[in-house]
Amino acid sequence: MRAVQYRTIGAEPEVVEVPTPEPGPGQVRLKVTAAGLCHSDQFVMSLPEGAFPLPLTLGHEGAGVVDALGDGATGVSVGDSVLVYGAWGCGLCHACAQGAENYCPRAGSLGIQPPGLGAPGALAEYLIVDDVRHLVPLGDLDPVASVSLTDAGLTPYHAIVSSLPALPAGSTAVVIGVGGLGHVAVQILRAITGATVIALDISDDKLKLAREVGAHRALHSDEHAVESIRSITGGVGAQAVFDMVGSTPTLEIARQSVAMNGVIQIVGIGGAVLPTGFFSTPYGATVRAPYWGTRSELIEVLDLARSGAIHVETERYTLDQAPEAYRKMHEGTIRGRAVVVP
Ligand code: NAD
Ligand code: ZN
Ligand code: ZN
Repeated sequence: MRAVQYRTIGAEPEVVEVPTPEPGPGQVRLKVTAAGLCHSDQFVMSLPEGAFPLPLTLGHEGAGVVDALGDGATGVSVGDSVLVYGAWGCGLCHACAQGAENYCPRAGSLGIQPPGLGAPGALAEYLIVDDVRHLVPLGDLDPVASVSLTDAGLTPYHAIVSSLPALPAGSTAVVIGVGGLGHVAVQILRAITGATVIALDISDDKLKLAREVGAHRALHSDEHAVESIRSITGGVGAQAVFDMVGSTPTLEIARQSVAMNGVIQIVGIGGAVLPTGFFSTPYGATVRAPYWGTRSELIEVLDLARSGAIHVETERYTLDQAPEAYRKMHEGTIRGRAVVVP
């Protein structure tokens, strides 16, 4: 089968021929119907040698049709259309029992890695899923339109749900970075909170997208952003700031624009840090760096999509075009999410 692999440190991913995998006991093989490209793939490909075993088949947003079942795998049938919950955990610990496999403390020591982030990913013709519990039935939803709900939808949903007490009617939420995650974050905020939503980006096209998907205000992410947010909120600041970039300038905007008792969610893996404490962040402010989301939250995200409250803007690519799609992502010119259809 064909797969998109990151093979050489510093080089672009390559489309290569690899053996079609066979499902082991308890595993499920999917024929991939769609795979989303995330900015975290770019992060993975920026890491030094040894961070990930190479070659690595990329793609941690996956959808497929059940194609073959390993010994003992039950609960789905060949032909079922499914999404993959990618934040794989051990399935046995307290966090996993709550569906929060994204925070499984045993995954690391057991060598359990998500597809595309250690295990072979979804940017291929076939994908092995380690357990039926990591599948969510898609039903009538279109796989191409839905695949990025597994990360670009789930990750902001998880961050927003944990900020809900801060976001009643009359509150303000700021989303920094209106890319794959950010444009869904704006819609989720509109759907499940009472907040006025202010979106920031450095690109005019992304600001236009932000308005189209429901942002009340869309502002340039520059030295005037803090002043604007303070002015829009009558000097109070934003009750929640979702930083989908995580760089030094965006964390500085977050720090200066969050309200007292507000929350800053650092979702972007820009690598910057935010000093938290007296005379840095406002009284009572919380700073959190959440990772992905839980299995039950993914089901809630799908329900939101089914109700029409949220959608993912997608650009379609073939497997052969995946390297080009990554280049466009690097340039910042993808509108919403790039989705590969093998
Ligand atoms: P993306 O490339 O689709 O979007 C990034 C957006 O940020 C673009 O619109 C870009 O114009 C904008 N941007 C860049 N610099 C900016 C600045 N200074 N101010 C405002 N906007 C700016 O990326 P994505 O796939 O949405 O991912 C966003 C981030 O979230 C990445 O760092 C990714 O690695 C991370 N991520 C984290 C998790 C998690 O579990 N925490 C999950 C998925 C992705
Ligand atoms: Zn991701
Ligand atoms: Zn666990």
